[in-house]
Amino acid sequence: MSIIKLFVLPGDGIGPEVMAEVEKIVAWLNSEGVARFEIEKGLVGGAAFDAHGAAISEADMARAKAADAVLLAAVGGPKWDGVPYDVRPEAGLLRLRKDLALFANLRPAICYPALADASSLKREIVEGLDLMIVRELTGGVYFGEPKQIIDLGNGQKRAIDTQVYDTYEIERIGRVAFDLARKRRNKVTSSEKRNVMKSGLLWHEVISALHVREYPDVELEHQLADALGMQLVRRPKQFDVIVTDNLFGDMLSDVASMLTGSLGMLPSASLGEKDPASESRKALYEPVHGSAPDIAGKGMANPIAMIGSLAMALRYSFEMGELADRIERAISLVLEKGLRTADIAGGAKQILSTAQMGDAVLAEL
Ligand code: ATP
Ligand code: MG
Repeated sequence: MSIIKLFVLPGDGIGPEVMAEVEKIVAWLNSEGVARFEIEKGLVGGAAFDAHGAAISEADMARAKAADAVLLAAVGGPKWDGVPYDVRPEAGLLRLRKDLALFANLRPAICYPALADASSLKREIVEGLDLMIVRELTGGVYFGEPKQIIDLGNGQKRAIDTQVYDTYEIERIGRVAFDLARKRRNKVTSSEKRNVMKSGLLWHEVISALHVREYPDVELEHQLADALGMQLVRRPKQFDVIVTDNLFGDMLSDVASMLTGSLGMLPSASLGEKDPASESRKALYEPVHGSAPDIAGKGMANPIAMIGSLAMALRYSFEMGELADRIERAISLVLEKGLRTADIAGGAKQILSTAQMGDAVLAEL
């Protein structure tokens, strides 16, 4: 039986609480006998700062690189507001993203039928929604040079940000999107603003050529990013996989997240390059939500986003899509029964603690 090494970083705030529920699911996975999952734990964020004055230690960075996948819960909180900038909790997460070269950020927006009324849109628009936003994460305007503020004198300043994309960056994020679509409903929507941006022109050209060359079996459409934002709140179920750059992806994935109800429901994945020898890639899985200091230590956090992140790891790192489906089905059944944590209390028959929610998912499994 193959051994799968998971490097687990519970982090701060509600992080350790929601990660404890993932450990229960991992124990269940081991009992299924498909593979042997081994958990190694490390420190990141405020927890790492308290232990050794860094946002993540070199030893834990090495463990993250050696693992088959990294699971991270959340970092930060008011306790570390005053710590120096380069060792602030978020620096640990940024270091992981950079050193593992995680260029593809996957954010699914799934609307479980039982929660359709928690969406900011009408039930019929979102019920059964299942789309995936693939955001380029290491390039674009957040990193391009020059990036500066110039003092022009006479009270005037000039701010410059630069959007830069090379062909290879667009191709590799495009491949992630097309590969995902083949495992889903076989449709990709590529988004940029080629009408006003050179990088949008190149994006459109590279994605189109990649489509013809390597993925002619997948349906491809192009939508300008502003129009796509409008369509996301008008008729979101038309989408399967959306691929876009760092800036547009940042905004559009936040818009999409509000279609689904609570922050406590949303998982994410960040993927690196494929290693040509092993076909495997570096990957980090984490919930979209933060450390939620306002509810930390109260046992009321929703662990579903974290459990869903484990399901994504099974699907995208380990070719265990069926086990991922089972976990997601278990979550759906728990919700159908009216079992809820406080953040998704609407329509609840019973409000559960973090641990009770983990147990309820386990019981369905
Ligand atoms: P960050 O800057 O790390 O993204 P944030 O302050 O923007 O953090 P969160 O920490 O995600 O955002 O918290 C936003 C709100 O959502 C808080 O009121 C928090 O209690 C709530 N929240 C976040 N995650 C969960 C969860 N898993 N279960 C219940 N409520 C949550
Ligand atoms: Mg936030």
